[in-house]
Amino acid sequence: MQFEFETDRFPVMRARYYTAVAEKRAVRVIVIHSMEAPEKGDTAENVARYFQNPDPNKVSAHLCIDNNSIVQSVLDNDVAFAAPGANHDGIQLELAGYAKQTRADWMDPFSILVLENAANAAAQYCLKYNLPIRHLSDEELRSAQKGIVSHAQVSAVYRKSDHTDPGQGFPWDHFIERVQYHHTQRSKKLLSNS
Ligand SMILES: [Zn+2]
Repeated sequence: MQFEFETDRFPVMRARYYTAVAEKRAVRVIVIHSMEAPEKGDTAENVARYFQNPDPNKVSAHLCIDNNSIVQSVLDNDVAFAAPGANHDGIQLELAGYAKQTRADWMDPFSILVLENAANAAAQYCLKYNLPIRHLSDEELRSAQKGIVSHAQVSAVYRKSDHTDPGQGFPWDHFIERVQYHHTQRSKKLLSNS
């Protein structure tokens, strides 16, 4: 079945740095980042605002996500400056939290909500770009497969940055399961509406 899926309309605060793409962009990977910013309810908004300011590092991401909101900084079809090597064909998700967080830290009451919002968004992008819900290995990322990866993996595979977020403690099993859940819910809704 062929259908066009569009994501929820997230509030937009457009970042200063991105590359506009005229034709429809081919998205292959969803890249997960941690913002390295505090676990607070206004962190998505604060980081989105940071992305609007002049910055020598020229950074941006598609979505900024905290426990209670999602802000869109770069439009889906534009290229965000977040993970060199996987910018042109990536959707970049910035999650409130730190790469140093342990698994337990990622599963605390704040982070569980961040993960839930991020999984919901990732599920929508899997539908929109027809991506499989899987956490790719470095080898799979290198061999141009489709799926979900960390910024750390992009750094390891393409060697264009040294960022290691969202860190060793990121609960991939939990996250992928939640993406699957939201994907199933959204798919059901699509079918019932068609
Ligand atoms: Zn990152």
